[in-house]
Amino acid sequence: MNVFNSLTRRNEELKPLAGNEIRLYTCGPTVYNFAHIGNFRAYTFEDILRRAVKFNGMKIKQVMNLTDVDDKTIRGANAAGVALTDYTRTYKDAFFADLAKLNIEPAEIYPAATDHIPEMIELVSKLIEKGVAYQSDDGSVYFNVRKFPGYGKLAHIDFDNQRTGARCASDEYDKENVGDFALWKAWEESDGPVGWDSPWGKGRPGWHIECSAMSMKYLGETFDLHTGGIDNLFPHHENEIAQAEAATGKPFVATWMHCAHLKVNGEKMSKSLGNFFTLRDLMEKGWTGREIRYVLINAHYRQGLNFAFSALEDARKSLERIDRAVDALQSRIEPGAETPEFVRKAIDDFTAAVNDDLNIPRAFAALFELVRETNASGTRDQGVLDAFKRMDEVLGVVFFGKKEAQSVPAEIAALLEERAAARAARNWAESDRLRDEIATRGWIVKDSKEGQSCTKK
Ligand code: AMP
Ligand code: ZN
Repeated sequence: MNVFNSLTRRNEELKPLAGNEIRLYTCGPTVYNFAHIGNFRAYTFEDILRRAVKFNGMKIKQVMNLTDVDDKTIRGANAAGVALTDYTRTYKDAFFADLAKLNIEPAEIYPAATDHIPEMIELVSKLIEKGVAYQSDDGSVYFNVRKFPGYGKLAHIDFDNQRTGARCASDEYDKENVGDFALWKAWEESDGPVGWDSPWGKGRPGWHIECSAMSMKYLGETFDLHTGGIDNLFPHHENEIAQAEAATGKPFVATWMHCAHLKVNGEKMSKSLGNFFTLRDLMEKGWTGREIRYVLINAHYRQGLNFAFSALEDARKSLERIDRAVDALQSRIEPGAETPEFVRKAIDDFTAAVNDDLNIPRAFAALFELVRETNASGTRDQGVLDAFKRMDEVLGVVFFGKKEAQSVPAEIAALLEERAAARAARNWAESDRLRDEIATRGWIVKDSKEGQSCTKK
């Protein structure tokens, strides 16, 4: 399996550093609001990556952090007049429900920043001991970028042509303003009740140190793979490397991968521009998680993707085509039928596409070729169905034997997905509310071991 490594800027084979397991760290959400579908472009890309690793017979250990303390979460909690943990809980719960709707496989570990303050303090102390970090007059601690010779290797910063030196207290800044960045931020009036005791007085961690501390805690000082959206590359990931490598003296991560942005009219979809849709927004308009997932994954992850409703329309049609072929095949399967020639080629093409830096549009082309041949040949072979299932291990968009779910209108399908997510989160009250809501629209939901089924009243 080959992937493009942002650190070396080359296509390289992804092989575990040890044993047969890929250790993957994915920068997770800042839980101060509902995630938008731009964020979910990053999380679906990472889901495809994790599924592709497993598809290739490797094991995976994925850690995704939850940033539940930073400038934005503190501002939100204080404005709402609630405790930080209460404020972030709402968005953590919503995040997990959204992951389920998009059929994103759960990571192995979801560490929250506020549960790891001691580990962060320890890492900052180590950096001071090593002489690469210093305390400023107000009690904050900064990383001295000129004390770490490797600084800039991920973002390929040319220090000679840089205006460096300024200190930067905020977590985000651009390449033109490289400076010493905050590891620990001294408490300020606007932080309200949020703060932890430390050797440098009351304060809170900077955003970047969160990820270095939590990734090394769960994956070791050197691990295989680290990902995020391209906006994370600088300064966040550059700073993660500096903090980790200056502390341990060892390489931090072998392979870095970054996905391009989801855009709206050519601009990055973002909270600050206000040009975003949450998953809820789209589901209220009658689109399903499966259709949204299809749109997000059906573009190469390193290419910008412009969001448009016409893409959702196309997704609906394409998925219907797949469903029709798979349903018809399922209803005519006969034991002992011969496996047709085209199956091997479809799987080979599909595998080659996935292993060529996750070329999912090409992988879909292989799947649609299989759809075409399946329909044209009228095959009754179980092996063809198995090929669809094998492909769906990576794609996660095909329905198998859930005819009821497909024959309901889109708005009911969306409610059913929401209900499945509520049940996965053991939110029974919400599950009951949704059952009633579905009933008022003329459909009856039944639960069984296989999940929910739905029939018209
Ligand atoms: P944040 O909550 O802002 O820290 O972002 C969480 C993840 O979403 C990060 O990996 C970001 O790089 C990614 N992200 C944010 N906006 C977009 C976008 N418009 N397209 C793709 N990824 C994004
Ligand atoms: Zn991070």
